[in-house]
Amino acid sequence: VHGASHVFVVFGASGDLAKKKIYPVLWNLFKDELLPKETYIIGYARSKLSLEDLQSRWAPYLKVTDDDKSKFQEFLKINSYCSGNYDKTSDFARLDKMISEIGNCNRLFYLALPPTVYESVTLNIKATCMSKSDKWTRVIIEKPFGRDLDSSELLSNHLSSLFKEEEIYRIDHYLGKEMVQNLMVLRFGNRIFSPIWNRDSIASVVISFKEPFGTEGRGGYFNDFGIIRDVMQNHLLQLLTLVAMEKPPSTDAEDIRNEKVKVLKSIPPIVIDNVVLGQYVGNPEGNGEEKLGYLDDPTVPAGSTTPTFVTAALFVRNERWDGVPFLLRCGKALNERKAEVRIQFKDIPGDIFNEGKVKRNELVIRVQPNEAVYMKMMAKTPGMSFDCEETELDLTYGSRYKGIKMPEAYERLILDVFTGSQINFVRSDELYQAWRIFTPLLHQIEEEKPKPIPYVYGSRGPKESDELCATNNFIYTGTYKWSPSKI
Ligand code: NAP
Ligand code: NAP
Repeated sequence: VHGASHVFVVFGASGDLAKKKIYPVLWNLFKDELLPKETYIIGYARSKLSLEDLQSRWAPYLKVTDDDKSKFQEFLKINSYCSGNYDKTSDFARLDKMISEIGNCNRLFYLALPPTVYESVTLNIKATCMSKSDKWTRVIIEKPFGRDLDSSELLSNHLSSLFKEEEIYRIDHYLGKEMVQNLMVLRFGNRIFSPIWNRDSIASVVISFKEPFGTEGRGGYFNDFGIIRDVMQNHLLQLLTLVAMEKPPSTDAEDIRNEKVKVLKSIPPIVIDNVVLGQYVGNPEGNGEEKLGYLDDPTVPAGSTTPTFVTAALFVRNERWDGVPFLLRCGKALNERKAEVRIQFKDIPGDIFNEGKVKRNELVIRVQPNEAVYMKMMAKTPGMSFDCEETELDLTYGSRYKGIKMPEAYERLILDVFTGSQINFVRSDELYQAWRIFTPLLHQIEEEKPKPIPYVYGSRGPKESDELCATNNFIYTGTYKWSPSKI
């Protein structure tokens, strides 16, 4: 017995998520001495692997400098591996024995597995692997949490028949991002924003996720699941919720999650007339992958109508937001990589300047890349003239906080599970509401298979998306110019 305080079990330790994210994150936390003392890690999967085999899988993703070498040896000592099936209780009994031999400790189970085995794995955890006496057990699960309202409810009911809600940690890794966590502080820690954060001053809110690459031969999985389930129903809706929710009575997880559920309840299901669906086609003038359209991916079924780009207008029917469009946009094979929240304010009433000169203010919270918060605003053109022009108040993290190491989303989230903080995890009723909003649209798209609008690889997406934004109170003037050299 090592006298362990915690054992962290990685189910699916042989897989992609484990090697790319979970082990590198555990190593970073260990190296920075953020893991609780006497934490042990057990990898579990069907593959017959030695610790060396595991280590060679991590190698491309786990950074070990010369200075870290001895620390890495210590890290290896806290790791072990158990080969077993996901549906065999006797294999889980072996795992339980292994954990018990390490110590009477708190237990964390990370399901880095395809959802098809969630049910048997969780049943087996409950039957054989729960922690003993006064120690706790926590189970971490990854999206997809179902495909629609019914399948998600099935999974939720299954999990709640085995575990208490406080034992379940549903990961939406967007909630671990610095700027997403910053939304609460920006909103509730600044008097300048609170009085204008409503339908009186805000014209529209645009929440965007853009990727510059296509499916690159992995379209098979994507095609089955789609970008709405992959990005919009979870990550973008979480951002919307944080922008729109009322101020919680405290920063306790339950207080925050209650407010999130409340705002979601005020959102009616999305109607297809408020949606633009696109699918990328190759750019004959582009290089390499850019030449290939979605349908050129050999893993995508011929003639697939799965959208790779979606813009949807959502409405929050409550006193604060009635009539303000929330435009969620996401797409692949676009002109850039970017995730941001853009709040566009209404026109100035009673404009006294040259007509049309004064442009709308915009507050932009850029989640990635290069975290920044900037407010597009009007100022007098410097010099003798009494003209005005667009400029910005700019908080760019890279210049304001030079040299700060921003923890990775998964680092924060895994640490949160150790400390028992549920703030950045999705509660089951939140998930229910998210599926309620999206399921009718998803079913309609699957049944009617509307033909998505083609857009060229490397473009900003179909022009119909800009038109949908324009009819939903988002004005683009094209007059704003930014040059980083100005600062
Ligand atoms: P994966 O590599 O396909 O699977 C993980 C492990 O599960 C495999 O190494 C395999 O281990 C076992 N496995 C695979 N297919 C199985 C099957 N049909 N039946 C039983 N076992 C099977 O998956 P992953 O990419 O790591 O993702 C794990 C979970 O995280 C999924 O739910 C995924 O949606 C989610 N996720 C992944 C990423 C990512 O970056 N990869 C990002 C976000 C969310 P053995 O054969 O050795 O048992
Ligand atoms: P912008 O160029 O005026 O774009 C504002 C919005 O209009 C974006 O959502 C954009 O969509 C959309 N748009 C672009 N072309 C359009 C068109 N033809 N029709 C309809 N809508 C259109 O302002 P910005 O994006 O806020 O800033 C411009 C550049 O300056 C950006 O690259 C930004 O990162 C940079 N900047 C950086 C900082 C900083 O790093 N701190 C500060 C200020 C500005 P898309 O999202 O698809 O482009």
